[in-house]
Amino acid sequence: MAKTSRKTFLTKSLYLVTSLSLIERGLGLSSEVVAENKPSGSIPEGFTPVSESDPTAKALGFHQDAKNTDFTLYPERKETSAKNQFCKHCAQYTKLNEGWGKCNIVSSGIVSSFGWCSAWSQRS
Ligand code: SF4
Repeated sequence: MAKTSRKTFLTKSLYLVTSLSLIERGLGLSSEVVAENKPSGSIPEGFTPVSESDPTAKALGFHQDAKNTDFTLYPERKETSAKNQFCKHCAQYTKLNEGWGKCNIVSSGIVSSFGWCSAWSQRS
């Protein structure tokens, strides 16, 4: 059986770790991103979340949790470049607390900071 030199072993290990790190980043799966994207915050008193069956919400493909987006209808939302598209980063969003805010377009209630709809536009 051939012996692996220490140098070869270290080189291969470094290559493997680097590759895994790049793959993880490419898929948007770093632990920071996953942790950041968890819905949080309680519903502010006196407000009701928008129903996903609301006609405007439905027409725009809105979901209170962007992970539930219909990616067959909105494949662009699945792209790495869209990974930070959440209501909390949208120009139409006004924050009420860490988890919830008002939307100028889907306005029959409040929206989750981690929601998304097809009218999303980058806040300036
Ligand atoms: S317009 Fe923006 S804030 Fe309103 S539901 Fe869509 S993504 Fe969320």
